Amino acid sequence: MSLLLTGIGELTTNDDELGTVTDAALVIDGASVVWAGPAASAPPADSAVDLEGRAVLPGWVDSHTHLVFAGDRTTEFAARMAGQPYRAGGIAVTVGATRAASDDELTAVVRRHVAEAVSQGTTYIETKTGYGLDVPNELRSAVLASAEVDEVTFLGAHLVPQGWDADSYVDLVCGDMLDAVAPHVRWIDVFCETGAFDGQQSRAVLTAGAKHGLGLRVHGNQLDYGPGVRIAVELNAASVDHCTYLTKSDIDDLASSETVATLLPACDLSTRQPLPDAQSLLNAGATVALASNCNPGSSYTTSMAFCVATAVLQMRMSVSEAVRAATWGGARALRRENEIGILRPGSRADIHVLDAPSITHLAYRPGVPLTYAVWRKGERAR
Ligand SMILES: [Zn+2]
Repeated sequence: MSLLLTGIGELTTNDDELGTVTDAALVIDGASVVWAGPAASAPPADSAVDLEGRAVLPGWVDSHTHLVFAGDRTTEFAARMAGQPYRAGGIAVTVGATRAASDDELTAVVRRHVAEAVSQGTTYIETKTGYGLDVPNELRSAVLASAEVDEVTFLGAHLVPQGWDADSYVDLVCGDMLDAVAPHVRWIDVFCETGAFDGQQSRAVLTAGAKHGLGLRVHGNQLDYGPGVRIAVELNAASVDHCTYLTKSDIDDLASSETVATLLPACDLSTRQPLPDAQSLLNAGATVALASNCNPGSSYTTSMAFCVATAVLQMRMSVSEAVRAATWGGARALRRENEIGILRPGSRADIHVLDAPSITHLAYRPGVPLTYAVWRKGERAR
């Protein structure tokens, strides 16, 4: 059954040829887009919906979340807002709660946050393990997550758990843990930061993952300058995420590579860090993505619209740049930019309709829930 969406006031496609189309229409059939262009030349379809001038864009691609968790870190957040600094060690609180939770409890948490994200226009979600930090808990995190989200990343190297020295723990991550988890995930990730894993340890984790056929992602340059970006680019990681502290040479490396710079502004706000310099990255020619980094410690939001509004209002990205980064950029950070984050014949029918005439309203009306309708893989999700 094909469906014609017509009366689209402004259609953002992210396709180089189609661009942005006004007075547009879109036809979907099954899970795919089969036609996009001016409403006047739309082909007939089995049924039709008139969107009465509303804006349509690809669903958000949230390429960085940590949804397999239990417990709550409200107290830590409140202390931070009262002036305490953010440290990587807060992760240990969530690890304790996650290990103590049942499978059903963890699944319910993932499901609740995925539903919350989809209701706000997110149609493709990556999530990470990383609150288990032992073989059985990392394995079950990966298995539970893979039933609920689009892509799963193994983040055994999130933090050195209590009772371990870093090098011995890295050996475990690269050995038994990776052997157990690798069949259930597409990606491996490492938190390359002071207080987590140094450059040499990060490189060991990523190299071991690559040997198991996993794609590479890196948490880097969040709390200070460091080797994360350089290692990500050297090893052809799909993405290096945070990028709050970049040198000129980090920016040049990113611009001349296939590695996406994924910015997580909600996290920088929640940890009272400076916001990343998106304009220098874009001017240099790097690909920029925006993601929520939804997690209970440092960025507890599923709202990609909030990230987009922040990127425009506080990071001086244009609305088009920010929307592209939160859709096509996220898709590229997952190396799926020809399938998702784009609306053209053949792409996945992941469609976000705003109750507004243009994407400009995402920043013009910050904080207002503008999602009017969502199709995910061709199915009406809201
Ligand atoms: Zn993260």
